[in-house]
Amino acid sequence: MKMISVVIPLYNESILVDRLLQKVIKNVKAEKEPFEVVCVDDGSTDDTLSKLLMFRKEAPEVKVISLSRNFGLQAAITAGLEFSKGERVVIMDGDLQDPPEVIPQLLQKMKETNCDVVSAVRSKRMENFSKRFFIRVFHKIFSNISEGNQVEQSGNFCLLSRKAVQSVLAFSERNRYFPGIRNFIGFQHEFVMYDRADRAEGEAKMTSRKLFSLAADAIYSFSKWPIKACLYLGLLGVVVFLLAIVYTLVSKFTGLAPFGWSSTFLAISFFGSVQLTFLGLIGEYIFRIYKEVQKRPVYLVKQVFDDTANDHEVNI
Ligand code: UDP
Ligand code: MG
Repeated sequence: MKMISVVIPLYNESILVDRLLQKVIKNVKAEKEPFEVVCVDDGSTDDTLSKLLMFRKEAPEVKVISLSRNFGLQAAITAGLEFSKGERVVIMDGDLQDPPEVIPQLLQKMKETNCDVVSAVRSKRMENFSKRFFIRVFHKIFSNISEGNQVEQSGNFCLLSRKAVQSVLAFSERNRYFPGIRNFIGFQHEFVMYDRADRAEGEAKMTSRKLFSLAADAIYSFSKWPIKACLYLGLLGVVVFLLAIVYTLVSKFTGLAPFGWSSTFLAISFFGSVQLTFLGLIGEYIFRIYKEVQKRPVYLVKQVFDDTANDHEVNI
């Protein structure tokens, strides 16, 4: 029998832990197959970890990976995937925005179609207007400018076959964007639609700053668009510059009034600002290259609580 793993990243989700795990286990148990729930505690500062360990006493299927500090959602997903053992692996958020009731549908879809990836696609969203707006704009732009057949309105929530998990883990980049990688790997990819609820309790742990930086990671990693836009703008600048030269020469030889400082000023400020923008953008790429070259670990593990060993310490 093939084992099912459910990977859940958690950061300060103490109030939700019990409800979440109960629901997840209820839905996965219904499959009557062996399963594990891999909870990654992403350096929570509340009592998420002790709640998880408490729950684990009653349900040994729950495994807990405690990271040494908050490494961020993407790193936590990577940790969960690396520790998961199942032949099929569900990835979901821990705030009940990804409804556990959809898990059986994902598994069913994979069974029916024998595919390697099933993404849960949000048909409706219940978050506040500004967040919905930002996410919609991001998905529109991202799916239009990125490589690898990006699917709009699909987040982390999905089911992967072991083959797909291995493929996702083969991507060694530090600035990770999981939905982008998942859509990039190929294989037969199926979809299940669902309505996305608002988070059940508490504040969003992906703050606006974290969301913007994730959107930037997604675009820089999966699109040539920023650097291409520079090239096109640069070329446009050259055309404008050539026209200006022609205009200058014509006015010089036809005896038109000489240029004043305004045209000079405009030209300098235009090219100056374009150059600064481009330098900033190139700096962004260099910074990312630097990050990749450093090859720092994506996450560090403080402790693992699973059934193979009693609370042993692992350092990667
Ligand atoms: N999360 C995490 N590390 C972080 C931020 C978030 O593991 O640094 C977890 C969080 O606990 C939740 C999931 O990632 O289970 C999604 O976070 P959130 O609901 O804040 O994201 P949003 O729904 O706003 O995109
Ligand atoms: Mg959420």
